[in-house]
Amino acid sequence: MRLLTWFGLVSVLIAIPGWTAPGDTGFAQRALWTWDHRMDWSGKTPGRVPMGGGGKYHKPADEYLEDYKRLVDYMDAHTTFNAIIIWGFLRDTHGGVAAGQELCEYAQERGIRIIPGVGTSGYGGYYFEGEHEYNVQTWLAKHPELRAIGKDGKPRNVLCPSKPENAAWLQDGCRWLFENFKIGGINFEIGDFFVCYCDDCARARAAIPGDAADYYKDMAISIGPVAKLARELAPDAWLSYATYTGFNPAMIEKPPAWVKIVPQEIECQWTLTGMVSDAKWPSGLRPPTTRNTGYLHWGNKSTKTQHNIYLRRIQDVCRRASAAGFAGLTTYGEDPPSLYSMMLFYDAWSFFLDRPQAGVDDFADERLAKWFESERDGRRLLRILFRGPRSYPLVTARRALERANPPRGV
Ligand SMILES: [Zn+2]
Repeated sequence: MRLLTWFGLVSVLIAIPGWTAPGDTGFAQRALWTWDHRMDWSGKTPGRVPMGGGGKYHKPADEYLEDYKRLVDYMDAHTTFNAIIIWGFLRDTHGGVAAGQELCEYAQERGIRIIPGVGTSGYGGYYFEGEHEYNVQTWLAKHPELRAIGKDGKPRNVLCPSKPENAAWLQDGCRWLFENFKIGGINFEIGDFFVCYCDDCARARAAIPGDAADYYKDMAISIGPVAKLARELAPDAWLSYATYTGFNPAMIEKPPAWVKIVPQEIECQWTLTGMVSDAKWPSGLRPPTTRNTGYLHWGNKSTKTQHNIYLRRIQDVCRRASAAGFAGLTTYGEDPPSLYSMMLFYDAWSFFLDRPQAGVDDFADERLAKWFESERDGRRLLRILFRGPRSYPLVTARRALERANPPRGV
């Protein structure tokens, strides 16, 4: 009887959408995160490297679709990833609405979700760059009184989070996006650690109890209403919002008040890059939010990590995030597998997203063995990568791989 009761409870928990039981069959949401102008899949004009939202699209317009269709094809044929987050999804300089619609259809036919990045204060809004009603600059040119205010008291060309007109504009844009594109979700960001210093925002933050940092409060004020509407418009969409930070034990002891302002059905996207250690993420630590996804800065030109060998760290974060009930994980997808390090990267992620409790030996036997059609050679590569007492690969092994596949001057 007791066994039946326990079994019943587990069944109920697994039936809740997005709830991932520790040690079960892996993550539902497996996304690659990209900036349009950093993409390097077409093999033509090299992607650029800057971090953050700066940067015009410098490639010929048709390379936008070429880069992303090649990525979709690769994901479909070789990986277990099932979504692409795209910042710079819509621009005048790479085909605007028509190109976005074509990409969504192409991806959807192959079971891949396109998830635009949407800036709720900075980062362009819905239409990243161009003369469009749902581009932030276009909107603010008509309504300069709705701009945010910087610490120096001067206006900034981004949305003030607490103005009702801006909240309504964000909601109108959300309707427009879902009505016009076959998207699989939205990834919201307010703009890295952004704070508006106008009087309205100061009052709005003061009304939120607790001493959380101001940028967390602005994030919740800005994203909460539009995220709620997005959930109503698209019950099956994968909706997430970036905190730009990890979580810590203090947040569990006393959950910050901003947590409840964003609907709990929206996934909170925690940056896990600095959390993959027992000191930062002890066993049993979970975020204060109900639904969670994680974000990693690995395997990318902007962090100078595209030639690094990632394997144990991928296994480690998948194991920790699975045990903490995360619905998904997101990592970079801008660099192609023509780099050996990136081929290993995508292969390792695919394996551990599916089997977060497996070991690196399992990966060698089941995935690396296929590279050589030999289990013995798969294990040999593993030994070369991890020779020595260090937890992570020797620099010499990385250099050997780089020599085999030198960077293209980026
Ligand atoms: Zn403001």
